[in-house]
Amino acid sequence: MIQSYDSSLVLRDTRLFIDLDALRDNLRTLKALVGPRVAVTGVIKANAYGLGAPVIARALHEEGIDYLGVANLLEALALRQSGAAYPLFVMGHTPDEYLETGVAHQITLTIFSLHQARILENIALESGTTVKVHLKINTGFNRLGLSPTPESGIEIAEILKLPHLEVEGIFTHLALCSPEEDQKQLRAFKDFLGDLGASFDLVHVADSISGIDYPDFRLDMIRPGAALYGLKSYHSEDVHLRPVARFVTRVTHLNTLEPGEGVSYDFTFKAEKTTRIATLPVGYGDGYPRNLSNRGHVLIRGMKAPIVGIICMDQMMVDVTLIPDVGPGDEAVLFGEGLPVAELAVLAATNKNEILARLASRIPRIYLEGGRESLVLNEIL
Ligand SMILES: *Cc1c(COP(=O)(O)O)cnc(C)c1O
Repeated sequence: MIQSYDSSLVLRDTRLFIDLDALRDNLRTLKALVGPRVAVTGVIKANAYGLGAPVIARALHEEGIDYLGVANLLEALALRQSGAAYPLFVMGHTPDEYLETGVAHQITLTIFSLHQARILENIALESGTTVKVHLKINTGFNRLGLSPTPESGIEIAEILKLPHLEVEGIFTHLALCSPEEDQKQLRAFKDFLGDLGASFDLVHVADSISGIDYPDFRLDMIRPGAALYGLKSYHSEDVHLRPVARFVTRVTHLNTLEPGEGVSYDFTFKAEKTTRIATLPVGYGDGYPRNLSNRGHVLIRGMKAPIVGIICMDQMMVDVTLIPDVGPGDEAVLFGEGLPVAELAVLAATNKNEILARLASRIPRIYLEGGRESLVLNEIL
């Protein structure tokens, strides 16, 4: 639930701070980069990469985003229920039995079969509406979409004849394997469009990385997610995006270990000398990667505190022996300034998006605007 700012609703020391000014700046930066003729779908799937879809959607919408992209119909409906007339686009597959729900809520759907096109045509006919869809083409990612073959061309020609179906767009998705492979996919896509001989309002290919690094991939629309949230995966040196999220907690308790004493399950860490250990109220149940046990670190008073022992579901311990005067209530930065998501992702052997997307619903989200805390989102309240 979105709440107006009330600090008594935070209820935990483990908090995710989300800078909405940075988010808005990032969108403006991307819009300036691609120019006014390229539309932008802000990708807010997976709860806006963990940052709280209802609030992120509202901010992007206020900034004039063209579309809000989600992975599935459930995510789209959740946003529709927030009451706003967002332009919503489901980029993934919608099962046949739920197509009607998508139509009823004016959600733009992705299809890649004449079968689904006909179901949608019938629904539109019966309900006296039209249905907006984008066609998905598989140019090599081999996940979803029609292959760019003559048979698909015939199928699409049939789809385009359906009078109540508004085929607004056509798109593909890149594997980002190498610039050469990406170019090959773009060429396959463009060749297929040429063979189709039909025109579409929104022809699109690019996610964050390709949308920033490859100007010729922007076409009519880009679909950034990571870039909006300030995750730097692209290579361009000229684009400056600001990190949006900061994840922190506070020290709850301190223990002093004598040599030979262990920490946490299985004693995978044992003190070799007198060691000062701080306990933090965050664990893998919050989405913090458990494989950072004995591998990651947090920042306390600007200094690295190594994680020691196995990370528990709700708590973990860090070594603060070398950090003077650590006490209960001291802030520990899990990621943020001085410890970017990128660094955590490398240590956890995953990518930046996964670090954010796994952040659990029991973490209060606190939104910053104009340099002050403006909103609390506590999803499980
Ligand atoms: C997730 C997704 C995106 C956004 O990807 P980023 O790398 O976060 O920019 C774009 N398009 C599709 C189809 C996606 O599934």
